[in-house]
Amino acid sequence: MTIPSREQWETLYQGLHIEGRAFIDGEYRDSVCGTTFDCTSPVDGRALAAIASCDSADAELAVAAARRSFDSGVWANQAPAQRKRVLIAFADLLLANANELALLETLDMGKPIADALSIDIPAAANSIRWSAEAIDKVYDEVAPTPHDQLGLVTREPIGVVAAIVPWNFPLMMACWKLGPALATGNSVILKPSEKSPLTAIRVAQLALEAGIPAGVFNVLPGYGHTVGKALALHMDVDTLVFTGSTRIAKQLMVYAGESNMKRVWLEAGGKSPNIVFADAPDLHAAAEAAAAAIAFNQGEVCIAGSRLLVERSIKDRFLPLVVEALKAWKPGHALDPETRVGALVDTTQLDTVLGYIEAGKADGAALVSGGRRVLEETCGVYVEPAIFDGVTNAMRIAREEIFGPVLSVITFDSAEEAIAIANDSPFGLAAAVWTADLSKAHRSARALRAGSVWINQYDGGDMTAPFGGFKQSGNGRDKSLHAFDKYTELKATWIKLN
Ligand code: NAD
Repeated sequence: MTIPSREQWETLYQGLHIEGRAFIDGEYRDSVCGTTFDCTSPVDGRALAAIASCDSADAELAVAAARRSFDSGVWANQAPAQRKRVLIAFADLLLANANELALLETLDMGKPIADALSIDIPAAANSIRWSAEAIDKVYDEVAPTPHDQLGLVTREPIGVVAAIVPWNFPLMMACWKLGPALATGNSVILKPSEKSPLTAIRVAQLALEAGIPAGVFNVLPGYGHTVGKALALHMDVDTLVFTGSTRIAKQLMVYAGESNMKRVWLEAGGKSPNIVFADAPDLHAAAEAAAAAIAFNQGEVCIAGSRLLVERSIKDRFLPLVVEALKAWKPGHALDPETRVGALVDTTQLDTVLGYIEAGKADGAALVSGGRRVLEETCGVYVEPAIFDGVTNAMRIAREEIFGPVLSVITFDSAEEAIAIANDSPFGLAAAVWTADLSKAHRSARALRAGSVWINQYDGGDMTAPFGGFKQSGNGRDKSLHAFDKYTELKATWIKLN
């Protein structure tokens, strides 16, 4: 793929109209209260747009529109093959507008433009397409009943879905929810993060163009404690699907209990262990992967390999390889097509990251490289990926999710100790194991309490397998046919046969 030059992106930006209004019942609208908040780019500090600051009044309108559209059957009662056609048209429109969407994503949250264009937007389109293509191929069940009964086990769309998503992969996370939610016939209200609302607002128009009826897909930009909370407490939202922090995930369970016991599916934080045994087949490959696992997307990745567990006998050989590999991950202007590490999402996140770097030093870990704010002259929010050696699993930088490019290196002496350290975490999102020993790989994979385990790679996979966490990393699964479970109710129908 040819990535346009930085100058070409600037030209595209000059001609861009950035929409900041909510999208309810098929049209863009100001928030009911009329207030907005400023959207500023972490890439270079430029002001991008005024965004509608939605609250409970907007949630009322959007939920009512979603309910009306659902009850009318305008989408839910369409044949699966017809919903498939419309959603594939939507996926095609995402790709047809890939440059614009990638630019919005990069300007909004700081990721490198090459990643936004070659990873985020194609992955978002692919997740819509994958669910669409599957929906006319899944069957319901006939129960093994006695001869005088017919038992049908059917899946029905659940109704009104509220999807609350984070800022690290704004459109991709949204599409992981939208694909299965819409394919199964629901009406959806998407609440993007207040830090990255632009692509969600833009694609609402594309969804309408593709043929998704008015009211079936609504977008409410705004803050979590206002419009997010209003959706989570709403008595007419049937399912709440969430990707974000563990702290807010717990809060959403409380809101559901305090309101209508809506189903709550949570994809939350992580502190994933990346275990390198002395018999790893290729230490260079492991080092490259360890660097990418903490530096890709500025470390703002739920499955970041933020705990690097290294067997003591190879530590002195392996750590310099990681330091060397990380040199290729230098921060650069996010609109430069060569950049691999872009800007952090905002200065709040920068303060969090720098705070953890200070905490690591204070706790006695050794900062081996990186960890400074750089490129301040761009007015952007850039930080060098950092590596700490001599970390123990009790330190804050090993226990808490930093959500930035800070790698903690922890040494172990045996496979049992490695697994014990890996599992000694409130999180259980992902883990990786590097070894040439097939039995050790399988034993480790079984013992690791994580939703995804990779052997001799980091972050492999596609739409065909479920993605989600054990423990406080959440309960739901995005991707694969398993995702359909979140958006459907299971019904048993018993027919008496004479
Ligand atoms: P966050 O929890 O702060 O916010 C996520 C969303 O929740 C935002 O839209 C926010 O506005 C909303 N929100 C905040 N308070 C709310 C409230 N009281 N009621 C309702 N909604 C509220 O998370 P973040 O900082 O946007 O994202 C980073 C987190 O997301 C990290 O913990 C990361 O690990 C996690 N994440 C997880 C996955 C996964 O698949 N497991 C994927 C990506 C990101």
